[in-house]
Amino acid sequence: MHDYMFDGWTRSSPGSGRLMARFEIDGHMKWESYEPKPFTDTDIDIAISHCGVCGSDISSLRSGIGVGVQCNACLRADCERCSADLENHCKIDFVATYDSTYMDGQKSYGGYAKYWRGPAAFAFHIPDGLASGAAAPMLCAGLTVYSPLLKTELGQANVVAILRSSSKRANTLKIGADQYIATEEEEGWSKKHADSLDLVISTVSGPGMRLEEYLALLDVNGTMVQNLKLGGSLIGSRSTARKMLEFAAKENLTPWADVRQLAEANQVVQDMVKGKARYRYVLANK
Ligand SMILES: [Zn+2]
Ligand SMILES: [Zn+2]
Repeated sequence: MHDYMFDGWTRSSPGSGRLMARFEIDGHMKWESYEPKPFTDTDIDIAISHCGVCGSDISSLRSGIGVGVQCNACLRADCERCSADLENHCKIDFVATYDSTYMDGQKSYGGYAKYWRGPAAFAFHIPDGLASGAAAPMLCAGLTVYSPLLKTELGQANVVAILRSSSKRANTLKIGADQYIATEEEEGWSKKHADSLDLVISTVSGPGMRLEEYLALLDVNGTMVQNLKLGGSLIGSRSTARKMLEFAAKENLTPWADVRQLAEANQVVQDMVKGKARYRYVLANK
């Protein structure tokens, strides 16, 4: 007996009975009904209006009343990290928004769907003035960058964008970068720009990343932040997420994102893999 069924995109890889939507797989997700985790006293159900698509996860959801959802953690009082506002580094039970397991053994199914069910403690108000489609990618990609910026308190800084090619140069400068390094086109870039930065936020996750070249860019006492894909541990805490959303609403900031229909999720994830996103995709429920 099912207490409730949700409709959404699910994984169709042979051999895996697990339901999930994850673009790395193959772009062959199936639209079907699935059974969410059993509803508990601490859960909420949310009608999804928008869901961010990113390299590592499905990040945010929103209902008519403006609720965003982030990864979950144990939140136990005896958890050193959760009780120190570091739940995004929870060691006891970090639960990603999809393809993850809650402490009671139930699975998280992500947001390529009509509804989402999960712990209400990880759903929070999205400030008025911030559109759903804009808030969605902020809860993962945005938070990943905002969190270290908040911690290091650099304030008004010179921003250097480091990418492989110069194909994104014009847009990157347009959105506020002061300087641009194309690593595949600039011979000896690491030496040339050595000791010039106070903070490097790396969102590179490929195996070819040469860490030492980035470390060389740091000045004495500089900080290197690596967005660890496995475990999604970096992202940011709930309080940081709230600060970010309020900041974005106040400053009227919106990410550059293409809003696509949830119905074309398979095409969207394949476009994402091909690097076509400028610069995020958001799936919208009609
Ligand atoms: Zn914890
Ligand atoms: Zn992400």
